[in-house]
Amino acid sequence: MVRRRTVGVRPRAKARARNADLSATQSAKEPVNAVEIRGLTKTYKGGHGMPAMTALDRVDLDIPRGALFGLLGPNGAGKSTLINIMAGLVNKTAGTVRLWDIDIDKKPRQARAAIGVVPQELNLDAFFTPREMLAFQAGLYGVPRAERHTMELLEAVGLADKADAYARTLSGGMRRRLMVAKAMVHSPPILVLDEPTAGVDVELRQQLWAQVRALNAAGTTVLLTTHYLEEAEELCDTIAIINHGEVIAREPTESLLQRLDRKELAITTASDLHAVPDALAAFNVELQSPRRLCFRYRPSETRIRDILTAVRSCGISIADLTTHEARLEDIFLELTRDQPAKRSA
Ligand code: ADP
Ligand code: MG
Repeated sequence: MVRRRTVGVRPRAKARARNADLSATQSAKEPVNAVEIRGLTKTYKGGHGMPAMTALDRVDLDIPRGALFGLLGPNGAGKSTLINIMAGLVNKTAGTVRLWDIDIDKKPRQARAAIGVVPQELNLDAFFTPREMLAFQAGLYGVPRAERHTMELLEAVGLADKADAYARTLSGGMRRRLMVAKAMVHSPPILVLDEPTAGVDVELRQQLWAQVRALNAAGTTVLLTTHYLEEAEELCDTIAIINHGEVIAREPTESLLQRLDRKELAITTASDLHAVPDALAAFNVELQSPRRLCFRYRPSETRIRDILTAVRSCGISIADLTTHEARLEDIFLELTRDQPAKRSA
C-alpha cells in the first residue's frame, strides 16, 4: 500500500537544503502525536451586516500517530474550519498547530507536506484525466518523477482502468476516490478527510471506509470529520465530539460505547399499580404512570429475563413492553444539549 517515501516539497536547488532537513527530521523520529493542537481559536470577522463569529474556541486536541480519528459534530460545529487551518487554507486567530511535530506558523511548507487533505467540496478539473491530475499534483509538491507512483495510487483507489478517462466522465464515487489519491500523491503521513461520505450512497460509503481502513493499516494517520454517528462509531478508534467550536469529548470509541451500556425497558401493566413493589426495589425502576413501569439497566450486568421474572413473581401481568437502547446519538445529544451558543466574539 502507499507508504510515505518523500514527505517533502523537494526539488529545485534553492529548496533542496531546507527539505533535506525535513526528510531527515521525518525519518529520524516519528512523533507520538501526528497532530497537536493547542488553544486553537478562529473568529471570522463580521462585515456586510454579519456579526463576528467564533467558529473555534480554544480547542486542544492530540491525534496519536497511527490513529483512525473521528471528529464528530453537527453542521456548523467548526470541523471544516479546523481542517482548513491545518491545511493552511484558513488563518487562525490564536493558538498553535503542530503537524508531525512541525509548527504550521514556523514551517508552513513542511507542515503542509506532512498532510494530504480531501476537502468537503469536490474540486476536480473536468478536462484532466486522473493520470494528468496526479502528475500535476505531484509537480505541485515537487515529488521527483522517479518517486511518483501514479498507477499504484490509482490502483489503490480502484481507478487504474480510468487513468486516461476525462474526470467529467467519472461518477461521483470515482471522483471522491480520485480526490483521496490526489491527497496521497506526496505520501503524507497524515490524511485528512472532511466529511468524505456526506451525500454518498451506502455502497460507496462502504468502499470509502475500506479504502480508509487500508490506508490506516498501512501506517497513515487518518483524521476524518463526519456528522454521521455510525460512521465514527464503525470506523474510528478514537472519537472527539465538537459542538459550537468546542471539543466536548475525546475518548476511545470503545469507552464511548461503554457509556452507551444503558437500556430502558418500559412495561405496560394490565392493572393499575400504586407504588413500585418492594420486590423490585433492587432495580433502577420508576413508576411513570399507574400502568407504566420503566426499568433502566446495563445489558452487560442485567438480563432482561431477570427483570421479567421479578415482575411476574410480584403477580403483575404484563400487557405490553418496549425496549430502548441508548446509542451514540443519545450520548451526543446529551453532551451537546444546553451548550450555550457562544457566537458573538
Ligand atoms: P462544520 O464544518 O462543522 O459544518 P464550519 O467550520 O464550516 O463547520 O463552520 C463553523 C462556523 O463558522 C459556522 O457557523 C459557519 O457559518 C462559520 N463560517 C465558516 N466559514 C466562514 C467564513 N468564511 N466566514 C464567516 N463565517 C464562517
Ligand atoms: Mg464542514
